[in-house]
Amino acid sequence: MVDEKQCLFCRIARGEIPAKKVYEDGECVAFLDINPRNPGHALVIPRKHYETLLDMPDGETGEYFRSVKRVAGLVKNGMNAQGISISSSNGQAAGQVVAHLHFHVIPRFAAEGPPGLESMLSSKRLDDKAMDQIAQAIAKASPEPAAMQDFQPSAPQPRQPAPRPVQAESAIRAAPRPTTAMNKTEQSKKKRDGEDEEEFESIDDEISFDF
Ligand SMILES: [Zn+2]
Repeated sequence: MVDEKQCLFCRIARGEIPAKKVYEDGECVAFLDINPRNPGHALVIPRKHYETLLDMPDGETGEYFRSVKRVAGLVKNGMNAQGISISSSNGQAAGQVVAHLHFHVIPRFAAEGPPGLESMLSSKRLDDKAMDQIAQAIAKASPEPAAMQDFQPSAPQPRQPAPRPVQAESAIRAAPRPTTAMNKTEQSKKKRDGEDEEEFESIDDEISFDF
């Protein structure tokens, strides 16, 4: 557990560390990210220390998301942006760096092109059986954040890993990885050149093989 006295975002929320605040209310604070991905990139944090969204009590999530929405409107209008990307990394495996729940609100501009934040991960090809197994595993899972202990390295580890859909996981690992952006560009060009493809084929075109 990160010490709330030392937590960077707790200290910002308490006013102990300066930040370019753009919004605050009784529960939340929003301030500019010091490494903005676009001008106006803001972080929205709860004043209370929760490491991830899964640690936040259900009764507090509604107000938190209302604040995220408010900040999204402020950032979009304040920066004359055409769009807004909203994301949150939860857990070190997801790329979370500061162990205090935060949502990124990033203004997006038509001139920069339309890539969504999710495009940072390549798409995986999964067959229908694997997709069924994955859907069942998620639908039957507990919503409790039992395994979200990335920031507690001294926490005892379970002897046995939680049951997983083995075949589905194998399918993910065996999934072909996209090669270079150049291939996608070439494929996009091919499509623009007028090849008549059905929709599912054009989706397949987003994946190319490198074995
Ligand atoms: Zn904190």
